[in-house]
Amino acid sequence: MPARYHLWTIGCQMNTADSQRLAAALEELGYTPTGQPAQADVIVLNTCVVRQSAEDKVYGRLSSLRPLKERCPGLVIGVMGCLVGPRQVDHLRERFPWVDVWMPPSQPEPLLRMLRERGYAAEGTKSDRRLLPLSARGRVVTACIPVVLGCSTGCTYCVIPYRRGAERSRPVEEIIAEAEALVAQGVREITLLGQIVDRYGLDLPEKTTLAALLRSLHRIADLWRIRFLTSHPRWFTEELLNAVAELPKVCEHIELPVQAGDDEVLARMRRGYTVAEYCHLVALIRERIAGVSIATDIIVGFPGETEEQFRRTYELLAGLRLDKVHIARYSPRPQTLAARRYPDDVPEEEKERRRKALEELQTSIAEELNARLLGQTVEVLVEGRDERKGRWWGRTRTDRLVFFESTEDWLGRLAQVRITWSGPWSLIGEAVTSTPPGSPYPPLDRPL
Ligand code: SAH
Repeated sequence: MPARYHLWTIGCQMNTADSQRLAAALEELGYTPTGQPAQADVIVLNTCVVRQSAEDKVYGRLSSLRPLKERCPGLVIGVMGCLVGPRQVDHLRERFPWVDVWMPPSQPEPLLRMLRERGYAAEGTKSDRRLLPLSARGRVVTACIPVVLGCSTGCTYCVIPYRRGAERSRPVEEIIAEAEALVAQGVREITLLGQIVDRYGLDLPEKTTLAALLRSLHRIADLWRIRFLTSHPRWFTEELLNAVAELPKVCEHIELPVQAGDDEVLARMRRGYTVAEYCHLVALIRERIAGVSIATDIIVGFPGETEEQFRRTYELLAGLRLDKVHIARYSPRPQTLAARRYPDDVPEEEKERRRKALEELQTSIAEELNARLLGQTVEVLVEGRDERKGRWWGRTRTDRLVFFESTEDWLGRLAQVRITWSGPWSLIGEAVTSTPPGSPYPPLDRPL
């Protein structure tokens, strides 16, 4: 029986991207995936500690692996991701002695080396596949490429800089080569990732920008869609706005966290902008990018957040009517300035009340925005099939989830779908055209 791996991932897209790469590397070493930890020869947890609730889930998982390791001492257990900061390893080793290998975010090499050394796997060849999320589970249509690793911006609530290290942009050529290899494997949509992705290139010796990177990627013939996240309002430039507006492959979808709707709270978060500046940017983006969808992140119950300050966040979201809002209750994180300086003084029930209020507001906004699409035809890149429900699913350029039924094979194709049902989180429709599987973009007759 072939050796098997079980990979468990929580957290942001960066973690998902790291897991895809690790999965590809393990598959190259001859491992096949299993959903059952008890059947695995290698188990990897890819962890998140951005909030206490995520960290607690990780501890729960870690504890559940102990009996497995006791039963099969040959089992290899690896832990990767933001739990494994540079200062945490000694403590973690002591607390969880049944873990064989600890790996910082985006660094799976120690596990791969161990598997080779222990002879569990044949020596892998360094082929292109290594980069790729091409999985034993089948063709992958969309993929993420981390372009900015780490973060050096000190938002006072955020632990990420302490776990992912200083900000560093990857070289342009490396990213292009990776994108080309992905596209050659059938990937049609690429999402560029960075904690503050619009800072891409500012730390490179050649001082390039995200806009320039988008223009370079745009030339890849069989790449159909490009996204990027997460943008920070302070670094969202005119140049980037123009690139998104001009480049047909770059989807009109911007992730732009505001975090709070009150200037005093924003200042204590050290976000570096005011509410008015944020609103101005949203207006500009909407004016220049037709049909754009904008998503945001909010933290409720930041230390000292008064009812009145929370009301301002509520009013801001009610006024802006953004397409998607990720809402989190503030969670004090070790090492961060906020945790050291400000007492966590908003009671949990109050944080939850505020979260719920925003959630309800946003549900009704999303419901209304999606209902406008009823009867319209949208372009969907088909990413997969829900076999249980017998329907295809994919996303619009504005990142809306769409399902439709069809007996044809739609995987990796662009479908024109007429929307027949809408809810706050997804849409259902019927495929109206059966475009041949090919690029929607004619060869470019002018350089963009
Ligand atoms: N760098 C990215 C992602 C950061 S983590 C960004 O700027 O968006 C994703 C989201 O988690 C953040 O936007 C924030 O809303 C939330 N978050 C981060 N730290 C948090 C904390 N200590 N408590 C609650 N939510 C937090």
